[in-house]
Amino acid sequence: MSADPVHTLDDLVRWSHAGTSLAVLGHPIAHSLSPPMHNAALAGLAQRDARFRDWRYFRFDVPPADLPRALALLHEEKFYGLNLTVPHKVMAFDLVAETDPAAQPVGAVNTLTWTEHGWHGYNTDGYGLATAVYETLGRKLAGAHIIILGAGGAARGAAVECLQQRCASLWILNRTKEKLAPFLAILEPLKGNISVRGFALDAPPPNFPKGVIFIQATTLGLHASDTVPFKLRDLPDPAGVYDMTYNLSETALGAQARERNIPYANGLSMLVHQGAKSLEIWTGAPAAETAPVMRAAAEAALRDV
Ligand code: NAP
Repeated sequence: MSADPVHTLDDLVRWSHAGTSLAVLGHPIAHSLSPPMHNAALAGLAQRDARFRDWRYFRFDVPPADLPRALALLHEEKFYGLNLTVPHKVMAFDLVAETDPAAQPVGAVNTLTWTEHGWHGYNTDGYGLATAVYETLGRKLAGAHIIILGAGGAARGAAVECLQQRCASLWILNRTKEKLAPFLAILEPLKGNISVRGFALDAPPPNFPKGVIFIQATTLGLHASDTVPFKLRDLPDPAGVYDMTYNLSETALGAQARERNIPYANGLSMLVHQGAKSLEIWTGAPAAETAPVMRAAAEAALRDV
């Protein structure tokens, strides 16, 4: 059970925190690691800078139908910043007053800042992924051959980041074939001369390039019983596997990577770096400086789940 309570919109009627409020909105939200991560980093900042002593980060359970009302109420209450997690990132994109140009091709926002005219939306997931892949696998997205498994929201953010960083080639694999065409159409304006190809999982191409980075961006891996419908042995000499899901136990994909001696990392580092970038947007504190405290808090909270 998390130490900090799960709030609902009803709590805003008698909101008592006199200082600066930040929050994450999601559904469900009880197990989000963002509150412990951000509150640990804020406590660290407060030791050096008195401005942050009254800053707190809260969690709100907001069902999808309530998101428009939630954003209006939290704006009225002058929450200074918000994070959005599943399932709100795409819907919020159409509800904010303005969007950071980098978030526009992603079509989703995960970080909002309060402005007089309404919320300003950013997306820090791409930064989180690129930083995490470099930190854990020692690889840059720029110049790399990349396979992304999945064609949902996380895969879209990852694909946009890979293209913006000018990867060498991009291969999308998805269970549902029908989702590939609209996914590739979104990427079309970004790709320039980069080869971007999509395949149904049950009909992958005969050959992948050597040394790919494999990014797992489906929901598979959240449950112990989940399998991975892709065999890493089909990849010639892969450079590494980045699995966006994170939990304490080894996933089926993690086990495959270990058996084949392929560098592997789970998504905790991405969660940490996207969070640190959000905090940088709100406080000005460099993400690289707050990330280690956030990681330690996230790991401690994961052990308590
Ligand atoms: P989403 O939009 O719902 O997309 C789900 C994706 O998973 C789709 O491509 C779907 O394929 C695929 N999928 C689901 N069940 C499958 C199965 N049994 N076999 C094959 N493919 C399956 O979800 P999302 O927002 O992209 O999130 C994906 C994951 O990334 C989640 O676990 C999320 O927690 C994680 N994530 C992590 C971070 C981080 O910071 N580490 C950030 C963002 C997201 P179909 O199209 O065939 O349904």
